[in-house]
Amino acid sequence: MIWDEKSECMTKKEKEKIQLERLQKTVKLAYENIEFYKKRFDEIGLKPEDIKTLKDIEKIPFTTKSDLREAYPLGLLAVPREDIVEIHASSGTTGKPTVTAYTQNDLDIWGECIARGLKMAGAKKDYIIQNAYGYGLFTGGFGIHHGGNKMGAITVPISAGNTQRQLDTMIDFQSDVLTCTPSYAMYLGESREKAGISLEEINLKAGIHGAEMWTSEMRKRIESSLGIKTFNIYGLTEVMGPGVAQECSEQNGMHIQDDHFYPEIINPENGETLEPGQNGELVLTSLTKTGMPILRFRTKDLTSLIADKCKCGRTTVRMTRITGRSDDMLKIKGVMVFPSQIEKALLKVSGASPNYLIHVTRPDILDEVEVKVEASKELFSDEIKEMEKVEKQIQASIRSETGLRVDVTLCEPESLPRSEGKAVRVIDERKL
Ligand code: ZN
Repeated sequence: MIWDEKSECMTKKEKEKIQLERLQKTVKLAYENIEFYKKRFDEIGLKPEDIKTLKDIEKIPFTTKSDLREAYPLGLLAVPREDIVEIHASSGTTGKPTVTAYTQNDLDIWGECIARGLKMAGAKKDYIIQNAYGYGLFTGGFGIHHGGNKMGAITVPISAGNTQRQLDTMIDFQSDVLTCTPSYAMYLGESREKAGISLEEINLKAGIHGAEMWTSEMRKRIESSLGIKTFNIYGLTEVMGPGVAQECSEQNGMHIQDDHFYPEIINPENGETLEPGQNGELVLTSLTKTGMPILRFRTKDLTSLIADKCKCGRTTVRMTRITGRSDDMLKIKGVMVFPSQIEKALLKVSGASPNYLIHVTRPDILDEVEVKVEASKELFSDEIKEMEKVEKQIQASIRSETGLRVDVTLCEPESLPRSEGKAVRVIDERKL
């Protein structure tokens, strides 16, 4: 079940040859057409011809999210405006949005990458894909849609939300694949149980979930509550959208489409390149995009690369589950904490949902942390005493996971803020 064996199963030699050719072409394109890159290269006396080997990529300066923001909205195009056919953007919740622009060929490549992932999840041409990612500027909905079209499968563009309609669609259309954020998949699973719909009434086989961090505990809950196998998908607006990488049926790392995106892992502190197996920040360079090529983009996502051939037969390099974001790392009372650790702790307590908000303040000289957690619907309708008991359990679970003592407040289901279907995890009000 491989979508494009020729591209996904290349030997190391074949792969490196293609990567180098494409890298050289992309660097030339960026240098000759984008003022930002020309200036960056000229400042350090770097010429496109200096990229003679893949290793030479390390000579190229990094591109950051703030570089993209400064070029807002369309300052980084490498082609004339009339060649652009679609635009997407990040939400801009923490500043100006970052924009990505696609030529028709870029969209075809996006579709190709997603189609490879759909195939990894077992999809076929006659499959119904219930696409519950949000449609709009967010890349999730349209990305999956382009891939579904490329495969020739039947895409239902239901978008995010309207849970009753999602469940009706699963039953009436007998959808085969569900695509949405993991938190929404979990909510749909819980809603199915509450509505008394049996697993036999729905026909779901696979779920492709990403766009936010999730844990293996969450995966287990989604898989059992929807009766599916789940596939972790990775991508980001700045580079393309979802489909940069995805898990195959081995569920052991996500295959990066490395004939289109060149991955590196760096030490986030000093920018040095790290070896496969070492954990660090993922840096991506587009190899085939022409609308808005991007060189050495610092994703801030922490992961490591697996270079060995996968049991599925694909040779594309894999990346492990994202363990955190280098800028999400919170230092609380001197302790390093990742939101994912809080999530892990929550999933160990029954009655707690994985929807939470970490609120950090420093009223005086000491940090104070309040973790607000959405209660399950049953628990919320229960007695206060029962709620207090669960709050204490959550507190203990967080303490054993992180070593931190935090205040825990259970709140009403679905009361915490969300953006683009993604949960807001941290509010840090300390003036550091
Ligand atoms: Zn594989």
